[in-house]
Amino acid sequence: MNTTPHCITASDIAKAAEILQGHAIRTPVMTSHQADEIAGARLFFKCENFQCIGAFKFRGAYNAISQLTQTQRRAGVIAFSSGNHAQAIALAARELGVNATIVMPHDAPATKLAATRGYGANVVIYQRHSEDREAIAERLATEQGLTVIPPYNYPQVIAGQGTAAKELIEEVGQLDILLVCTGGGGLLSGCAVAAHHWSPGCRVFGVEPLAGNDVQQSLRSGNRVHIPVPLTIADGAQTQQVGQLTFPIIQQYVEDILTVTDKQLCQQMRFFMERMKIVVEPTGCLAAAAAMNRLIDLHGKKVGVIVSGGNVDVDKIEQYLSMARE
Ligand SMILES: *Cc1c(COP(=O)(O)O)cnc(C)c1O
Repeated sequence: MNTTPHCITASDIAKAAEILQGHAIRTPVMTSHQADEIAGARLFFKCENFQCIGAFKFRGAYNAISQLTQTQRRAGVIAFSSGNHAQAIALAARELGVNATIVMPHDAPATKLAATRGYGANVVIYQRHSEDREAIAERLATEQGLTVIPPYNYPQVIAGQGTAAKELIEEVGQLDILLVCTGGGGLLSGCAVAAHHWSPGCRVFGVEPLAGNDVQQSLRSGNRVHIPVPLTIADGAQTQQVGQLTFPIIQQYVEDILTVTDKQLCQQMRFFMERMKIVVEPTGCLAAAAAMNRLIDLHGKKVGVIVSGGNVDVDKIEQYLSMARE
């Protein structure tokens, strides 16, 4: 039994919700009769693809920067990421009047570079194969007094992400089951704390890509398992190891981690477009794919499904849709 207190509690999530009020979008909850029929349950999709920057990461980023001291805010923040976290930090920092530096790989998609610069961030490019982005970020942080905001292993980031589940429960009432897309476990751990507090008895499951099931291995073995960079289209869940802060929360509040294949992600993306008229990125399809493939018994249950983001490269959609048919 783990008796050390966790890095956040429900009151940190309640505080984050207040901070985000009027800044983050209270995203819609969508339902679909057809999805319910396929899953044999009532599914409530929390659509974070409609969040600022197109993914839930704005919640954690805005909450984290808001809670820095004046001195830290004056100096600025730094993040290393090529994905949604970079854009979330860039936008949240701009809104809060804080300078942001983002360390991105030389081969990051041009659209992502442009978006991050467009939010006013200072982009530092590194060579993916020969340089260590964490070391670069740490060096710049030390030289310039910047605060590093990591994508998941940080208390105020976890608390911010938990507001997604809090809102969902406020909107639809108590849930039997909550399914959450999982990479490093920031969204999962925050949502698990929220569900435990605001919907006691709700069973919480994380969902990972089959090729990158490090959190599943970790939860089942009791140790934080490190894996090589997984080959999957779920680029937001290509993490190699669950966070040091997120893991104990997951151990306490999450029943299990489920896995889905890339093909199932493509089929889910297709369902979202065709039936629900929404664009969801592969990583954002994880939790929904677990429900619609009935990876656990959902019969007759009221199920919350976090749809984590919608930032898909539009030129790749055709390829994803054809993978769904293969
Ligand atoms: C970052 C991200 C995830 C994974 O979140 P973690 O907090 O790292 O588990 C899932 N979906 C999307 C769209 C993301 O951007």
